[in-house]
Amino acid sequence: GNIILSDVSKIYSNGTVGLEDINLTFNHGEFVMIVGLSGSGKSTLLRAINRLHDVSTGTILINGEDITNASGNKLHKLRRSVAMIFQNYNLVKTSSVYRNVMSGRVGYYPAWKSAFGIFTKEDKAMAVANLKRVNLLDKYYVKAKDLSGGQQQRVGIARAMMQEPSVILADEPVSGLDPKTTKLVMNDLKRLNEEDGITIVLNVHSIGLALKYASRIVGLKNGRIVYDKFIEDVDKRD
Ligand code: ADP
Ligand code: ADP
Repeated sequence: GNIILSDVSKIYSNGTVGLEDINLTFNHGEFVMIVGLSGSGKSTLLRAINRLHDVSTGTILINGEDITNASGNKLHKLRRSVAMIFQNYNLVKTSSVYRNVMSGRVGYYPAWKSAFGIFTKEDKAMAVANLKRVNLLDKYYVKAKDLSGGQQQRVGIARAMMQEPSVILADEPVSGLDPKTTKLVMNDLKRLNEEDGITIVLNVHSIGLALKYASRIVGLKNGRIVYDKFIEDVDKRD
């Protein structure tokens, strides 16, 4: 996936500046980690890319398509190619792992159809394959609420993969997880990035994690870019 933000600003309706003059190009296969203090604009940036909200000015291109004002089919297509994982996992806690993972497929069907839970054999095979990749196939029938935090996040990753995305956006996916679990989740994401060439944009507040996993580090402060380097150019004193 390829993402180009040009002169993007986001001013919330109460006047708060979320993002200011953002110019960024993320290329296919990059593992970008966005670092910055709470309130620096990291979530605002991801929500803009996924069109969970509109931006105030500027344009956003994804895989060459201008999605800034996309609606209808075009927005639907965008939502499929850009998958998201969340800090709080956003799983249906009382549903099985299998059902949560399958829900990633819903965007492939008209709403009326998915409401009846009509999934194909191929969808089911894909769910099994994706659960294998995050090493959770044995949890297939377990309810999401009975999993550990790290396991829930890996179900979130398997669900994201059901969209066959070219981009995965991750908003602080490992905050709240212990170091060992963090490593499992980050390694799963790293593998998808390296093996499938999925572009990953991931928010963190720990620079240590970024140094360990990112191919590129972007720093935000007060809605502006204050740092942008590929990992090989990062100076430990930065
Ligand atoms: P981060 O993800 O880095 O913590 P955010 O993108 O959430 O930062 O926030 C950036 C700025 O925008 C902060 O000043 C925050 O208070 C503000 N903000 C975020 N969401 C909203 C909102 N829905 N309405 C008004 N201001 C918001
Ligand atoms: P549904 O609720 O749609 O009837 P199920 O939850 O019973 O579906 O199972 C979906 C499909 O996945 C079935 O074909 C089932 O055999 C298969 N399946 C279930 N558990 C596993 C597993 N642990 N490994 C591989 N395939 C499984």
